[in-house]
Amino acid sequence: MNQAKNKPKVVIIGGGFGGLQAAKELGNEPVEVTLIDRKNHHTFQPLLYQVATAVLSPGEIASPIRRILHRYKNIEVILGEVVGFDLEKQTVKLEECVSGLCEVGYDYLIVAAGARHSYFGHDEWEADAPGLKTIEDAVEIRRRVLLAFENAEREAYLTGAQKPLNFVVIGGGPTGVELAGAIAGIAREALKKDFKAIDTTKARVMLYEGSDRVLGTFAKELSEKAKQQLEDLGVEVYLDSFVTEVEENRIKVGENWIECSVALWATGVAASNLGKALGVETDRAGRVLVNPDLTIPIYKNVFVIGDMVSLKMENGSPVPGVAPAAMQMAETACANITHDLHNQPRENFRYTDKGSMATIGRNKAIAEIGTWKFSGYIAWLMWLFVHIISLIGFRNRLWVLTEWMWAYFTRERSARLITGDAHEMREMPRLPAADQIVDIPKIDSKKVLETAK
Ligand SMILES: Cc1cc2nc3c(=O)[nH]c(=O)nc-3n(C[C@H](O)[C@H](O)[C@H](O)COP(=O)(O)OP(=O)(O)OC[C@H]3O[C@@H](n4cnc5c(N)ncnc54)[C@H](O)[C@@H]3O)c2cc1C
Repeated sequence: MNQAKNKPKVVIIGGGFGGLQAAKELGNEPVEVTLIDRKNHHTFQPLLYQVATAVLSPGEIASPIRRILHRYKNIEVILGEVVGFDLEKQTVKLEECVSGLCEVGYDYLIVAAGARHSYFGHDEWEADAPGLKTIEDAVEIRRRVLLAFENAEREAYLTGAQKPLNFVVIGGGPTGVELAGAIAGIAREALKKDFKAIDTTKARVMLYEGSDRVLGTFAKELSEKAKQQLEDLGVEVYLDSFVTEVEENRIKVGENWIECSVALWATGVAASNLGKALGVETDRAGRVLVNPDLTIPIYKNVFVIGDMVSLKMENGSPVPGVAPAAMQMAETACANITHDLHNQPRENFRYTDKGSMATIGRNKAIAEIGTWKFSGYIAWLMWLFVHIISLIGFRNRLWVLTEWMWAYFTRERSARLITGDAHEMREMPRLPAADQIVDIPKIDSKKVLETAK
């Protein structure tokens, strides 16, 4: 046992919803906790699309992990990229070594490194259709969206003609629906009066979904209502439409190429590579097949939680990749660690579904809580309430509430800055492919948060 101050040492990888909850659960227990994350901040992912569409600034939905956990004396936070494990030696390996030391020892390990988008074997598409997972993604998407309007204005001013301005969103899940609805809102309301040479309301927003309905995890009648609400906002919704190619400024749907100024990717899940690094069985999305107590086979001191996990509920359907599931798994994993400390039997994970909701735009949302179904204004108010109370920190809640009220009454977007000079902006930098992103963790997160505001 790694006897730091004679207390068992718990290492948590990831300061997302699962990892952060795990740290809080253990904050007052007789254990020494080390939380390792490659970012210095926790991101409230449900509101990322609002950063991507200029409603909120990055600092309003992200908080330094060190600050969130500062009051727990038994928790140390380390900024670092975990690249592997030695499960026999009970160590995790960090990418960067300090004085030749790259390993952190543990008695218990909780792996909560989350997931990213999957491009279904076409990682090269990411450069032309970025996904939304991190603050950096959101800032890049915001840049592309705002820049598309700026470029169209410049061209119309110089030539006297407005070229088509098309935004394509690939994937009709919650993120795709939110992005499409919000971009339509920008074009039809927020930017309308600010551009003189172009009519922003003529911008087309097209949503492509491979299945026969949007928001497919909701009841069918709610999916239909969501589609109607999207169309009311001016979004063109194409169902049963598989995107088969993505290139710069165009996508292929079936046999047809569609020209677009901006394409965004909002489908597919690929769990963190750390699942495979554990050397255990994973599903096709790289999610770890865990035991009912959330441990991996053989190693009863290694827990995997959150989006990295593939687990079925009692009714046979998979536990969804949502924040409450990650947090509930954190509670079970930590309860099992404390049960061990008290020589009590372990418990199995049981997911409690408290309902789900998705927003589509101003006054438009759907919500499903048990057999109760809501849509429109009531669902939208419920969505606002749940997201405000779920945000971490009173300051963030206050800021976000203020920004929302401002946006609601003025129909403006306050976070519309694009950084860089005109010549730097003209050429959109192409993002590295997903596998390369995994290998370049040295992003100065603080700088990003400060400059992107
Ligand atoms: C755009 C978007 C919108 C969403 N909206 C909703 C919503 O409305 N409601 C809802 O319930 N859920 C929503 N989700 C899903 C929800 O965010 C996830 O289910 C949840 O974040 C999973 O928690 P997690 O702890 O498993 O992973 P995450 O919260 O993703 O945290 C993973 C952490 O691990 C860190 N990490 C990764 N790899 C390493 C490494 N090698 N070394 C060190 N650190 C590492 C990351 O930096 C990150 O901090 C949304 C997700 C996205 C992307």
